[in-house]
Amino acid sequence: MDILDRDTARQLYKHFRKYRDGIRNEPEMASVCLICASIHVVPKVDDTRMRECRNCNFAFYRYECGACGATIDGRDPQNPGCSVCGLRVCTCGVCGCPTGEAQ
Ligand SMILES: [Zn+2]
Ligand SMILES: [Zn+2]
Ligand SMILES: [Zn+2]
Repeated sequence: MDILDRDTARQLYKHFRKYRDGIRNEPEMASVCLICASIHVVPKVDDTRMRECRNCNFAFYRYECGACGATIDGRDPQNPGCSVCGLRVCTCGVCGCPTGEAQ
């Protein structure tokens, strides 16, 4: 993974603080905390689908959709939470709930 420099992180932070749409499509946002702008964001120990900021402890979902492979980011308004399974809904409509095909 590329190391993100502080200036780039700042710019991304400023932009996505206002316009959260598209966070999921920005690979570098996996490493930028949207709360405190820290770049010390690491995979969460007890949940592989989450990442966690080591500076402010804010945790968010960021993982690949099992159905279509797109990145899902819990901070992106296009990935709303599912009230049933608690995971995030991909833009393809799949969340953690069993799909019709799997049954
Ligand atoms: Zn933070
Ligand atoms: Zn998907
Ligand atoms: Zn669900």
